[in-house]
Amino acid sequence: FLDRLESIHGKPAITTDGVRIELLSNTGLLADITPGLKAGAEGVGLYRTEIPFMVRSSFPGEEEQVQVYRQVLSAYAGMPVYMRTLDVGGDKQLPYLHMEPEENPALGWRGIRFTLDNIPLLMVQVRAMIRASQGLDNLHILLPMVSATDELDIFLGLLDDVCRQLQDEGYNIHCPQVGVMVEVPAAISQLIFWRKRIDFVSIGSNDLSQYLLALDRNNARVASRYDPVHPAVLHEIQRIVHITNTCGLPVSLCGEMGSDPVAVVLLAGMGIQRLSMSSAKLPEIKWLIRSISQTAARELLDEALKLESVSDIRTLVQNRLQSLG
Ligand code: PEP
Ligand code: MG
Repeated sequence: FLDRLESIHGKPAITTDGVRIELLSNTGLLADITPGLKAGAEGVGLYRTEIPFMVRSSFPGEEEQVQVYRQVLSAYAGMPVYMRTLDVGGDKQLPYLHMEPEENPALGWRGIRFTLDNIPLLMVQVRAMIRASQGLDNLHILLPMVSATDELDIFLGLLDDVCRQLQDEGYNIHCPQVGVMVEVPAAISQLIFWRKRIDFVSIGSNDLSQYLLALDRNNARVASRYDPVHPAVLHEIQRIVHITNTCGLPVSLCGEMGSDPVAVVLLAGMGIQRLSMSSAKLPEIKWLIRSISQTAARELLDEALKLESVSDIRTLVQNRLQSLG
């Protein structure tokens, strides 16, 4: 098996009928840079900036953030890096940031809701990202937990101010592309309004599944029911891919689902263009994509979408995968 993975090193993830799917890595740790590049990642599809914030004892300042972001952006020079603005709150807490306990943290003050209420903090982070990308121009900014147009508009206004400010200060920078995570179900039907404001979309299947199924992604009691291959989640993801295609927006998926072989076959059938995952999973997923045809994946997806349960869908796809070896 390892020989098989070795033999595809340096080759693209392309289906047997010629459909290319880009594979990128998910990270937040500088220690992941080398493994990601070694695994053949074509960029960083999700850089979780809360991770470098978590390992400190206080908020990192602008210069410190520039140093960290620069290392990621320069390691992936010539490849896209999708950096997400701070996504704290809910299940992600910073030790030095005291947040009042909330009755429903998953539905509370988190992601962009938190950063828009802390504009100075967000400004520093965005300034640091853009300064770090000077001369590299591979930065893409990804916004977490967006559910309403005004959140996007406030951010875009702030980004404009930051870019102008940096140019006035003499930095030779370009304003980066901006996209949203689709992880709050409300975002799906709003995409049509956002299409001219954003440059790309990334599906956060971890939170999207949590909110569609009303199942806490971290609660052991309900963990056995939590599965992104649930028919309702698949239907919504198919709808997102359809809407983004109609709007001409590139779409990727960066949740755990993107490295689950059963889900990957179904996503390939939907015509997803890009998947981002932990780099340890990347070679196996590349092998899988190089072993299937998109036509067969689409047929399997059609069959799967007629089924009513997770277990029936998993059995159907797994049986087909077994025939591939
Ligand atoms: C997601 O929600 O799917 C996602 C990729 O973001 P996180 O797991 O960091 O919430
Ligand atoms: Mg999320």
